[in-house]
Amino acid sequence: MSETHNPFEAMQARLRVASELYGLDDALFKVFMAPVRSMIVSLPVHMDDGRWEVFTGYRVQHNIARGPAKGGIRYDLHVNLDEIKALAAWMTWKTAVVDVPFGGGKGGIVCDPAHMSQGELERLTRRYTAEIMDILGPDRDVPAPDMGTNSQTMAWVLDTYSMHVRKTENAVVTGKPLGLGGSLGRPEATGRGVLITAREAMQRLGKPLAGATVAIQGFGNVGSQAARLLHEAGARVIAVCDNHGTTKNERGLDVHALLKHNQEARTVGGFKGGEAFDKEEVLTMPVDILVPAALENQITGLNAPRVRAKVVVEGANGPTTAEADPILLENGVLVVPDILANAGGVTVSYFEWVQNRIGFYWREREVNEKLVEYMTHAFHAVFSTTDKYKTNPRIGAYILALERVSQAMQHRGFYA
Ligand code: GLU
Repeated sequence: MSETHNPFEAMQARLRVASELYGLDDALFKVFMAPVRSMIVSLPVHMDDGRWEVFTGYRVQHNIARGPAKGGIRYDLHVNLDEIKALAAWMTWKTAVVDVPFGGGKGGIVCDPAHMSQGELERLTRRYTAEIMDILGPDRDVPAPDMGTNSQTMAWVLDTYSMHVRKTENAVVTGKPLGLGGSLGRPEATGRGVLITAREAMQRLGKPLAGATVAIQGFGNVGSQAARLLHEAGARVIAVCDNHGTTKNERGLDVHALLKHNQEARTVGGFKGGEAFDKEEVLTMPVDILVPAALENQITGLNAPRVRAKVVVEGANGPTTAEADPILLENGVLVVPDILANAGGVTVSYFEWVQNRIGFYWREREVNEKLVEYMTHAFHAVFSTTDKYKTNPRIGAYILALERVSQAMQHRGFYA
């Protein structure tokens, strides 16, 4: 049987296993199997060459029992409803795992941002915001950047929303530019979360992070910041790949030089301090730590038997298929699951939202210290749940999240 690469089915498969083990109430299980709200919008946009193009956009809220929906907006040609539904559900579990008072949401637009001008992206973003306006808001649903979007995208969402409500509402999005109420430490927060959980995972194996070898798939915001922070913590980043190229150096890449190269060349390929390798090999290198920080469905039933890393820290959302999970477990690979490993971003998003609402801004050191506190606490909660239910850390993380979300739902009851 060929394995499913539908990310929503992959989420449901784990939810089913975790619910059975936890003994989740059947009614709640049915509720969690589908998002509470999915919105599909058609977005006419005036392109620079005078044509009108109509794009499809989505915003999905999977669960809002613990607070406003929270989650990024993704611009990519492969965006589809099932992917956004999966990502929204993962946000529900992620916000519960780090215990921040949000539910889970996600949005996306089917488009190719690399081939659009700033003007086209701005018009697209503003039209999208206007279309989903009714379900957005600091107390309803708070977007953030994701693949293909950035702080500028958030600034356009903020402005469009604010124009409609006739006041500046900077808590409507997170991951904003600093001058618009963004938080110090937010741009590298997901990468910092990867660093914190990688350190904890190595400690669990009785090994120091300093000197550990690392391979990273993806050099976008998450991959590049994780590379930098791991390098600065004394780990040896020996291989990195992105969409367009690869580079490796057994003695350890000079990550600062690589960041500089990547800024100019827009790829890690062609870096003078390393040599190219076959892209597929990044996942099967004999390293201490593997960080998949690109797309969904990268570690599959097919290549999982060849994964030789001791620890996999999932910087991306959904990089491992449900079929690969038992194979990694069997081979003794310690997986720090996405809903824990990449939760640093949404944790600092929460800090940003809090700072916006109190109107008082923290120093970077304060943000980073609080992030360490939240992430290490979450790490230990996930692993003690894992031990309690004698399961793997992914299912442990799902159970911890289920416990928290279902408690909130039970307290609230069903409105009928
Ligand atoms: N897009 C990021 C994620 O997948 C951040 C979401 C947020 O900060 O709301 O976790």
